[in-house]
Amino acid sequence: MTEGRCLCGALRYQIDGPFIDLLHCHCSMCRKHHGTPFATWAAAPASGFRWIGDTSALASYQSSEKGHRDFCRICGSVAPMVDAASGLVIAPAGNLEGDPGIRPTKHMFVASKARWYAITDDLPQYDEFPPEFGMPATPRVPVAVKPGVAHGSCLCGDVAYEIDGPPLRIYYCHCSRCRLGRSAAHCANAFYKAEGFRWTRGGDQVQDYALPGAQYFGTAFCRRCGSEVPRVSVERNVVSVPAGSLDTDPGMAPNGHIYVDSKAPWFDITDDLPQFAGMPPRR
Ligand SMILES: [Zn+2]
Ligand SMILES: [Zn+2]
Ligand SMILES: [Zn+2]
Repeated sequence: MTEGRCLCGALRYQIDGPFIDLLHCHCSMCRKHHGTPFATWAAAPASGFRWIGDTSALASYQSSEKGHRDFCRICGSVAPMVDAASGLVIAPAGNLEGDPGIRPTKHMFVASKARWYAITDDLPQYDEFPPEFGMPATPRVPVAVKPGVAHGSCLCGDVAYEIDGPPLRIYYCHCSRCRLGRSAAHCANAFYKAEGFRWTRGGDQVQDYALPGAQYFGTAFCRRCGSEVPRVSVERNVVSVPAGSLDTDPGMAPNGHIYVDSKAPWFDITDDLPQFAGMPPRR
């Protein structure tokens, strides 16, 4: 049996398993909802899924005619979804505790992949759904671009932002807080100077969650759709941007992996970027 929870702990659940698949999805909806370059989903029979305690923190966003994306309304973590048609529960692997005992089998929606993210493992890649899903592709929406300015938005479109200039640095962080908060293998945070950042839409729709006991750690997400959005620290003059929410290319490759000592057991780092056990050295 595997337990899962959101970052704040308001949503808790158990999945009996066995897990039948673990796959990486690069679709634009996953990238925005999680704020990461890809989401990793674990599938198991729905009959073995149950919530622990009450689910009053559970929110749902209707992302398409048939699809919905569920999340915690307090911390923004992505929540598992029961798919009645397939009889499966689809859970974000970043929120599973311990080792689910299964390893990723494939990448899907690779045709929608973030341009700045490179797939470096040997797993099979599918442009959209793998054939066994028997599902049609989701149409992709083109993005208007202002030269020299980074643009980003949430999944529902209520929240949008712009940032002047290039990022200071981009890190993949494997710490347990980032994995829970982004509901993914790791976060991909692009750091910019806060002075160049502005909301162009829906700044008042952003819900902030500060993790109790943490000096800086928290999440910010769209109240309506739960997508991870930038979190601004005025005092440090830095904005931490979940790179999956960017609609434009950050124009810079990630600088490395941090907190690798806390990495998920089911995820292998296969690229050549520098790895740091904890924080990167100060520059
Ligand atoms: Zn929560
Ligand atoms: Zn997806
Ligand atoms: Zn939204």
